[in-house]
Amino acid sequence: MDTNATAKPVAKEDKTKKPGWREKMMQELRRLGGNASEIAQPPPPLEEPLYRQPAQRRAPTAVVPAEAGGIPAQRVLSAPTVAAPPPRRPTMNMSDFTVARVIGMGAFGRVSLARHNGTGRIVAIKAVSKAFIVKNDQISHILDERFLMKRVAGYPFIVTLLGTFQDRDCLYFVMEYMAGGELFTHVRDNGVLNPQATRFYVAQMVLALEHLHGKGIVHRDIKLENVLMSAEGYIKVSDLGFSKVLHDNQRTHTMCGTPDYMAPEIIKGKGHNLAVDWWAVGCVTFELLDGYPPFYAAEIPDIYRRILAHKSGSLKFKPYVEQVSKDFVNQLLHPDPFQRLGSGPLGAKAVKAHPWFQGYDWEALAERCYMPPYKPKLTSPEDTSRFDRFDRLPPVESAQNLRPQQQAMFNPFTEYY
Ligand code: AMP
Repeated sequence: MDTNATAKPVAKEDKTKKPGWREKMMQELRRLGGNASEIAQPPPPLEEPLYRQPAQRRAPTAVVPAEAGGIPAQRVLSAPTVAAPPPRRPTMNMSDFTVARVIGMGAFGRVSLARHNGTGRIVAIKAVSKAFIVKNDQISHILDERFLMKRVAGYPFIVTLLGTFQDRDCLYFVMEYMAGGELFTHVRDNGVLNPQATRFYVAQMVLALEHLHGKGIVHRDIKLENVLMSAEGYIKVSDLGFSKVLHDNQRTHTMCGTPDYMAPEIIKGKGHNLAVDWWAVGCVTFELLDGYPPFYAAEIPDIYRRILAHKSGSLKFKPYVEQVSKDFVNQLLHPDPFQRLGSGPLGAKAVKAHPWFQGYDWEALAERCYMPPYKPKLTSPEDTSRFDRFDRLPPVESAQNLRPQQQAMFNPFTEYY
């Protein structure tokens, strides 16, 4: 009886296979053959289904009934009653995608537009070199990034991570594609924004930070390049590469972020907390209204000098900036983190309550009922015209010299069924 029970799943699986499935896969792989240079890994065995459903999992060992001349009865009786768990399978790999082109370069990797072969969904895939990560001692950071992105996936104002996988050389983050590009590009191409448009974008950043901070996560790299626009004109915060969980608003000391947006307490290195994100929102708001970040300088040491010399309320605004906007920015750019808007126990609620947002319908915004001030002109869901071109890219560094122990440290990165 036992033996029948263990043999069953095999028969069941054969029945559930759809007719023509294998043929379909073969056609799809043949169609992809021309793009092999874009695909970092050889195609998978043809038996690999796209998005294998749990019901289709195959038990690793089926005990053959002794009567059929397989395993002696003795061994069947002494075999463990609980079958060993099936080998885990990654939810996806690079051969599941057709890559179109590179659309972005980050501190640790390149981002490409790709189409999922099975579903046709357009996605953005960030590939990060393992060798680079090991060299820069960033393993725990990259694992944190994956973990934190998963934790906030699905929130409407943060870019959603759809899955992760790896091959020998790279780690891959599969994300929803934000076709409207960076808010940075939008400002670069269209110039400064009016107060209504600025409020529309900043309000969404406030919601994103409210969500992150509510989970104790500090972003630490809020800037226009990390705010991406959807095809509809709404925005989402991206890149949790410097993010970290702070328990009970503890302080952390790593100097990280982008110089123009760094709060003075980060530069001083005496410990910082969630309040650094509100400082960055102050910088971004100023930049959207003015065209330049508030402490802009050509050389990085000069930026730091200007940030450290900043006195509350001393910023020079363009003459057209209204008093209420100035006040909002000044309160966010308070050099003392304890006096900064958003840093108290109310957190984001205090920011939302500032008169700059008077009359703002936060629920309508969360439900995307506001008409965006600008809708990107796109010809198709895979239009990449909002992204810069990256024609000469350095080759991805090989990770063949990593030791097995080093490779093993990346194990938690892959998502399995
Ligand atoms: P990152 O390494 O995450 O900073 O990404 C580098 C650049 O790639 C960003 O500044 C964007 O231009 C682009 N990018 C990143 N993620 C996405 C996405 N989900 N959709 C569209 N573009 C993206």
